[in-house]
Amino acid sequence: MKEAVLIANRGEIAVRIARTCKILGLETIAIYSEADHFSDHAKICDKAYLIGPAEPRESYLNIRKILEVARRSGARYIHPGYGFLSERPEFAEACEKSNLVFVGPRAETIRQMGDKIEARATIDALGVKRVPGSIGPVPNAKSALEYAKKVGFPVLLKARAGGGGKGMRRVDREQDVPAAFESAGHEALSAFGDGGLYVEKLIASPHHVEIQVFGDGEGRAIHLGERECSIQRRHQKIWEESPSPLLELFPETRDTMCEAAVLIAKSICYRGAGTIEFIVNERGEFYFLEMNTRLQVEHPVTEWVTGVDLVAWQLKLAQGTFSLPSEIKRNGYSIEARIYAEDPMTFLPAPGAIGFISSPNGPFIRWDAAFSGPGDVSMHYDPMIAKLSIWAPTRPEAIARLRVALDETRILPPKGSRQEGLGSLRTNLVFLKKLVRHQRVCAGDTPTDLIASSPDLTSALSSEGSEKLAIVGSLYQVLQETKTRIKAEPFRSSVWYQVNAKEGLRT
Ligand code: ADP
Repeated sequence: MKEAVLIANRGEIAVRIARTCKILGLETIAIYSEADHFSDHAKICDKAYLIGPAEPRESYLNIRKILEVARRSGARYIHPGYGFLSERPEFAEACEKSNLVFVGPRAETIRQMGDKIEARATIDALGVKRVPGSIGPVPNAKSALEYAKKVGFPVLLKARAGGGGKGMRRVDREQDVPAAFESAGHEALSAFGDGGLYVEKLIASPHHVEIQVFGDGEGRAIHLGERECSIQRRHQKIWEESPSPLLELFPETRDTMCEAAVLIAKSICYRGAGTIEFIVNERGEFYFLEMNTRLQVEHPVTEWVTGVDLVAWQLKLAQGTFSLPSEIKRNGYSIEARIYAEDPMTFLPAPGAIGFISSPNGPFIRWDAAFSGPGDVSMHYDPMIAKLSIWAPTRPEAIARLRVALDETRILPPKGSRQEGLGSLRTNLVFLKKLVRHQRVCAGDTPTDLIASSPDLTSALSSEGSEKLAIVGSLYQVLQETKTRIKAEPFRSSVWYQVNAKEGLRT
């Protein structure tokens, strides 16, 4: 009998995990909420179980219900994906207690590295540099101010339980500390149930570079190179690439960072796929930021340049059939762009129904998506629609390939909702198309403040971008209608059919 994997997640990552499970001959079990009845992840798996209402607490975060499905379905493994329960030590523990194999690190590792304060202490003991600041949480605004003065303004107040840039505040002046402390603390408390904050020096115009590691859980670990994830909005990644354009200038820094990452992974006997995040300044000096004890959203760029299926490695390790190679060769260049349901100028979520979706194709193009046809980007979940990643031998070729692929991508709200504007789906595609053509991006000059310091990236999107989108939208609407009409009335000559036939626009 086939062994079964329960995928405790949704959207593109659940689809991606299911594909590798199938390649390995494993049965796939999906869970889905009421908002995800018709989602691809529920359709692609061998079995799918409805586990509750849309609210994550009632479904994708509900450990009791997930374990109940695992028991009923006869699952042997649980893959948590990223987000949701992937970094909750109590989930890893509950799986093991129920005799299920958690595809990820041990609960105590998640606890140790997931708490940013404990992680910082671990790093200090290894002699790896971290960003200067308070080692632990600061009890009040007064103490935050003392640390800020010690390391020098500007500083960042950061949530000890943080993630996704939440509970993070930049503070430039002494007098702003109390208000920032109060608001960051509140945000952290409501997002993570823990309002603890620590102080870090703000590194000016830095780069976010992270190292993919993989450990066998017995003290051996290797790295699979770096990913540069500096292009961000709201402290969240939108574009990732490997190798890092910054580290191309500092090859020795790359070697030292990779060594530091492997040292960290070995010191905690790390099991499975993990990522060590660093912040690097423009002189090539690097500081530890945090460790993510799971698969990253941006793992495809590493898969492109290494040829490794990271999920297959995770699953084989869980099955006890994996042996860690001593080294991995990297080849060429990969970039990933994240396509979100969000306003292309403000970057605020703009979820809604998808009426039409058409993915790009061609050599060395990968499309990881939550939707293959019409669907709903639910307001209950992260509004990412798809990840478009490509490979090419060099960075200029990678940029060119991504440009063509982005130009080919079409995601539109359903007919009828298009004119409504607010309240209907918007995507960041026009923004990404501008980004891929931007002179600083093409030159590889991409510090984390690139978007904030390049108003030309978001200006004129309303006129130029939306206009183009509207033209494309109406053209597609016309073509879709034409197609339906041709099917329904094959022998009748419609005006549109004739026009399109003449213009060579028949689909
Ligand atoms: P989270 O866990 O909330 O994602 P991180 O610590 O990973 O928070 O930081 C997210 C992003 O915020 C980084 O990629 C970087 O762009 C920015 N950042 C974090 N710490 C600093 C710092 N000390 N100086 C400058 N930028 C920082």
